[in-house]
Amino acid sequence: YSGIDENSLVSKKINSKKVEEIMSMPIVVTEDTTVYDTIVTMFLENVGTIFVANKGCLSGVVSRKDLLKTAIGGSDISKIPVGITMTRMPNIVVTYPDDSVVDAARKIIEHEVDSLPVVNLEQKEGKEYYKIVGRISKTNITKLFLEFSGN
Ligand code: ADP
Repeated sequence: YSGIDENSLVSKKINSKKVEEIMSMPIVVTEDTTVYDTIVTMFLENVGTIFVANKGCLSGVVSRKDLLKTAIGGSDISKIPVGITMTRMPNIVVTYPDDSVVDAARKIIEHEVDSLPVVNLEQKEGKEYYKIVGRISKTNITKLFLEFSGN
C-alpha cells in the first residue's frame, strides 16, 4: 500500500470498531450501598468508576474523587449511602453497544470523564430507563490504540 491507502485503511478500521467489541464488565452497586462498601468494591474490582442502579435502572455514577470528597468531609462513610455522593441521572453521559468507539472516545474527552456506562434503552411499566450492559473507559480505548499499533 502507499502511505495514503494505508492511512485510510487504518482510519476505516478504527471507525468501524463498535463499543460492544471492546467494552468491559460493568461494576454496579445499589443506591443504598454505603460509601464504605463502595470503596471496598472499588478496590476489589479494581475499577475507578462504579455505576449505581436502582431496580436494574441506571441511576448514577460514582468516581474515585466523589468517594474521596465524602471521606475527607468527615462524615461516617459506613452510614452514608452512595446515592448522596454520586452524579445522578439525567446528568449521566452514556453510550450504546452499537455506537462507534470513536464517538465514545469523543464523549469521554468532551465531558472530561474516565468512563461511560454502556446501556440499552428499555421500557418498564411504560417508563423508559437505561439498562446497564457494559463499561467503556480510557483503558479500553488505550488497549485498542495498542492493538492498532500492531503490538
Ligand atoms: P475522578 O472524579 O475520580 O477523576 P471522573 O473524571 O471520571 O473521575 O469523574 C469526574 C466527575 O464526573 C465525578 O463527579 C463523576 O461522578 C462524574 N462522572 C464520571 N463519569 C461520568 C459519566 N459517564 N457521566 C456523567 N458524569 C460522570
